[in-house]
Amino acid sequence: MTLEFLGVGSAFAKKHYQNNLLINGNILIDCGASAGRSLYDTKRSFKDIDHIFITHTHADHIGGLEECAFLNRFFFRGRKPKLYLPHELFDTLWKNSLRGGLEDIDSGKMELDGYFDVVEATNSFKIEGTQFEIIPTFHVPKKFCCGLMIDNRILFSGDTQFMPSLVRGYGSTAEAIFHDCQFFKGGIHASLDELASLPKEIRKKIYLMHYPDDHGNFRSQAKKAGVRWAEQHKVYKFG
Ligand SMILES: [Zn+2]
Ligand SMILES: [Zn+2]
Repeated sequence: MTLEFLGVGSAFAKKHYQNNLLINGNILIDCGASAGRSLYDTKRSFKDIDHIFITHTHADHIGGLEECAFLNRFFFRGRKPKLYLPHELFDTLWKNSLRGGLEDIDSGKMELDGYFDVVEATNSFKIEGTQFEIIPTFHVPKKFCCGLMIDNRILFSGDTQFMPSLVRGYGSTAEAIFHDCQFFKGGIHASLDELASLPKEIRKKIYLMHYPDDHGNFRSQAKKAGVRWAEQHKVYKFG
């Protein structure tokens, strides 16, 4: 299994784009506004993406879906990638986010399934032999968000506030933990200080992701905590 981040940045990051993860070259976990640009930079396009899973409805995770939908419909002969949605996002992604841009086209009214082969993702599901387990997280009150356990090897936190029992529980058996981060306390992501409070055997598996452009100011702090940084476009191999 290969993991490649199309971006490793926060919602506002410009240097390393937004935190979207590509698995085995064609399974995209989240599709933010910078996903299309990231594919373009590396001589690829949405034509190369066959499966998309969405963790939650912030624009750094769904802002590229309109471009993906229109490109596939009008430039790639109506090609329909599979779109995997947790039950909680099944209606809201369309009604509250995508409908404004995608509903009306020249030939009439469209629904989400006109652009994507929509699949309701159960708690545990497979894509081309890769196993995914949905892990609900706490990001913003009353807003659904989830992380993933991938092939029982990789813990991908998604966007979440610090949930030590979750990281300890899933992280104890994981080979690697990709965790979102921020560098101050009190926001909607885990802070580096909080992650640094985890046991050493957990910290040594952690790669920080979803970080701001000024992350360079926190290199020594991360080194002291014994955690690494996820790097944009680096291909990580597991299994
Ligand atoms: Zn985010
Ligand atoms: Zn978010």
